[in-house]
Amino acid sequence: MVSEKIIDLLKTELPVQQESLVLTGEVATGLVLIDLVNGFCTVGAGNLAPQVPNKQIEDMIDESVRIARSFCKNKWPIFAFIDSHHPDIPEPPYPPHCIAGTEESKLVPALEWLENEPNVTIRRKDCIDGFLGSIEKDGSNVFVDWVRTNQIKVALVLGICTDICVLDFVGSALSARNRRMLVPLEDVIVYSEACATYDLPVYVAQTIEGAIAHPQELMHHIGLYIAKGRGAKVVSEVICDTQLMP
Ligand SMILES: [Zn+2]
Repeated sequence: MVSEKIIDLLKTELPVQQESLVLTGEVATGLVLIDLVNGFCTVGAGNLAPQVPNKQIEDMIDESVRIARSFCKNKWPIFAFIDSHHPDIPEPPYPPHCIAGTEESKLVPALEWLENEPNVTIRRKDCIDGFLGSIEKDGSNVFVDWVRTNQIKVALVLGICTDICVLDFVGSALSARNRRMLVPLEDVIVYSEACATYDLPVYVAQTIEGAIAHPQELMHHIGLYIAKGRGAKVVSEVICDTQLMP
């Protein structure tokens, strides 16, 4: 465990101001779910899955389910990325994971129902950055088309890992927005309480040849900090209040 003192120090030196988001349905908002798959979330499911129950990941799934249910109830658009790799194409520096057609490359049990919802677009991707992973052979981009078709102004992003797939997607989406490729998208918002990253403490990493330590709390925070620095908004609370709808 990284000591509380270090985490507090990091949060003081690299503060991330967080707001609350109230969803009323007035602003076209799309939900982007990143890699809520067994291979990253379900205990013992694979090389990159948690080996023991992990609270940050459990909390992320609970919050994701709550938000996804609210979006489906209101028929608001959802775009769900699923990490999915060809067995013969490695993704260094990671060990084999989320091979297409396996349990690892499926949504977690609590979110499997999303596959049958009409407002959900599912995109299987074979790279870290979902924006790049949305490019089709003909050069079109499924995510760009989703924003345009649904006239999305706000993309609410959550999932795993805060400092890897979430961060890369957010960075690319912001660059694409700034290049006017994502009109009418205005804001990319990261929901911190529904994001998580993996835990590889220093004392464990030292026992694995070539492994890079990845303390969960620290890296989650750094992911949020960098996302904010790139121009994302970060919220720590999402209130779904369609009662406020006109
Ligand atoms: Zn992958």
